[in-house]
Amino acid sequence: MTDDLIGSLKICSHCILPETFPGIKFDEQGVCNYCHREKKIIEKSSEKKASYRVRLDNLINDTKAKSPLYDVVIAYSGGKDSSYTLKLLKERYNLRILAITFDNHFVSPIAWKNIRKVTDVLGVDGISFSPPWPIVKAIFSLAAKRDIFATPTLMRASTICTSCIGMVKSIVLKAALEMKIPLVAFGWSPGQAPIQSAIMKTNPRLIRQNQTALKNAFPEDIRQDLETYFIPNSYYDEYADYFPYNIHPLAFFDYDEKAIKAEMKEIGWHPPEDTDTNSTNCLLNAFANQCHIERHGFHPYVWEIANMVRQGIMSREDGIEKIYSEQNPEMVKYAKEKLEL
Ligand SMILES: [Zn+2]
Repeated sequence: MTDDLIGSLKICSHCILPETFPGIKFDEQGVCNYCHREKKIIEKSSEKKASYRVRLDNLINDTKAKSPLYDVVIAYSGGKDSSYTLKLLKERYNLRILAITFDNHFVSPIAWKNIRKVTDVLGVDGISFSPPWPIVKAIFSLAAKRDIFATPTLMRASTICTSCIGMVKSIVLKAALEMKIPLVAFGWSPGQAPIQSAIMKTNPRLIRQNQTALKNAFPEDIRQDLETYFIPNSYYDEYADYFPYNIHPLAFFDYDEKAIKAEMKEIGWHPPEDTDTNSTNCLLNAFANQCHIERHGFHPYVWEIANMVRQGIMSREDGIEKIYSEQNPEMVKYAKEKLEL
């Protein structure tokens, strides 16, 4: 099936990015310009990873037990990467953790079971946040039909995913400010976000810019409904001293998908069978991928997976299997019907 989908499509002989990817060029060996660009960064990555682990140790030393309620708030989807991040933060640092799950109305039933299981086993407080279905439906229906974000965003994720993640980031940041929590953790894989951004203090001015850009991407009627989920303007002064650090530890700890899954199973986490090859928690993902592939001719996860193939943490065969397989038609149908599209 994979071969059928690749067909006559030319893909990089090193990383799997396709000829349809924006700005791509190939050399005579069929290696893409992105592989050449990343080469130096990858060569230095093991040193860099070690230095980031020290940085995180120091940051946690400085912040642990200083805030009244929690040491860290994590955006917790119940998927394998955020579950593993949660386990790492608990077991390596024994932090007081608040896990926030953004309920986008497409969280799989198995993911909910995993969320409950993992937070129970690790002794972590969890809350779920759910905007009303009509608002979520309006956002996803719009994002399914057209691209509302700029091209660099489209290279890394589908419009549906970007809309959802925008809300997730906003809600966890708001919680961090209101509860004066010094760290916000994400379970980004080492392919999703570069190591340079893996420990970063949030900058109120940049957050404000990003939030404005995100809001303005939506038409007026939706924008008004979204207001509650963004950072209120008054917070930029009121909580100016409490802007947290964003951390995504999986960028600089050992990452092996099979080992992670095995370790998670030991604490009662189960890989969902009801989702697609790229998400272990979201029932909207297959449809989001399909919309993106139809509009742009490349898979929205190809950037992330190509990065992992280049870094040697995923085999090229596994990467091809993930990216060049058909979206599960049952799941596409489920999401389409639920959104009445
Ligand atoms: Zn390449």
